[in-house]
Amino acid sequence: MAGIYIHIPFCKQACHYCDFHFTISLRHKSSLLAAIEKEIFMQRSFLKGVDINSIYFGGGTPSLLSAKEIDTIIKAIASNYKVNYNPEITLEANPDDITIDHLKDLKETGINRLSIGIQTFDNQMLQFMNRAHRSKDAITSFDHARKVGFGNINLDIIYGLPAKDHQRLDYDLDLMVSMSPEHISAYCLTIEDKTIFGKWVKTGKLKEVDEYFAAKQFTMVHNKLSSMGYNHYEVSNYAKDGFESRHNSNYWKEEQYLGIGPSAHSYNGDTRQFNIYNNLKYITSIANGEIPSTIEKLTKSEKMNDYILTSIRTSWGCDLEKLEKEFNYKLDDRRSEFIKSITGKELAILKNNVLILTPKGMLLADSIASELFD
Ligand code: SF4
Repeated sequence: MAGIYIHIPFCKQACHYCDFHFTISLRHKSSLLAAIEKEIFMQRSFLKGVDINSIYFGGGTPSLLSAKEIDTIIKAIASNYKVNYNPEITLEANPDDITIDHLKDLKETGINRLSIGIQTFDNQMLQFMNRAHRSKDAITSFDHARKVGFGNINLDIIYGLPAKDHQRLDYDLDLMVSMSPEHISAYCLTIEDKTIFGKWVKTGKLKEVDEYFAAKQFTMVHNKLSSMGYNHYEVSNYAKDGFESRHNSNYWKEEQYLGIGPSAHSYNGDTRQFNIYNNLKYITSIANGEIPSTIEKLTKSEKMNDYILTSIRTSWGCDLEKLEKEFNYKLDDRRSEFIKSITGKELAILKNNVLILTPKGMLLADSIASELFD
């Protein structure tokens, strides 16, 4: 199985914490969409004929597109790839774009999963982050989506936001859980240098995210959502039974994926491909019949490290037997000792030769992975 990701690099306004690739000018929207359609055709052999079980519109803000524009892209995919019966088709949406009529039209295109960027219900904080929506838009957009019949909705929340205590997060979690979405993605605020927040940190207007504060909030999110029936199936992701994101699971299970559009990434088991982060250069290059990307051929050891890095973040864990069989991984004395020490500290459990992190261990997922690397 494989997934296709479409990057729509347009937003209404720039959130102060965001370092994704986007522009707030819609000037080149139609030529960029035409380039995306053409790239879908040009990349048709990248996935080597593997069936597609998921299509994901991310960005940027794909909900800025009309249903007709989305429909054209879905049809282009369907006519160039082997799309499964009933694929998961997700659209990232911002609350301020979601009207009943727009949702009805989107549903007609085959979109069957929405991922709504709520982030917090605190209006002051939304303003501080320069989000385009307010709390009531978030609630209304979710209600509209339910009315139109979307039965698979993800809500995004950010924790680790500046605060003197945990009251805001408590409130956000309570309200979110009361809405009963099928899936919740909870991300810790990260502050990148080139963002407005990054600049504010440099000038002292904003403090760095406090590690202990963020760790406490990670635990609050885990405890609250787990107690309300959500499976914590990846460091930042929670789902009700059967609603794990197919698209993200493809990434974490080493399945192939194709990324279309500026800044999109692809992986087909042998190579990784990175598209250029520049809309105009992307459009020009595609018009000239060239995919503007860099390609990396993966070595066996890179593939193995990728497997460790992604699988260790999930609740299904890192299979040591698979590592040995597929990659000739050697569990030498140092690594065996390390595994013994993290299981002893209750950061992980070892079950049928699969290493699975506990919630406490998930906080250290990346550093644990690096200890296991080749
Ligand atoms: S809407 Fe999303 S992609 Fe656009 S600036 Fe805000 S966080 Fe970034």
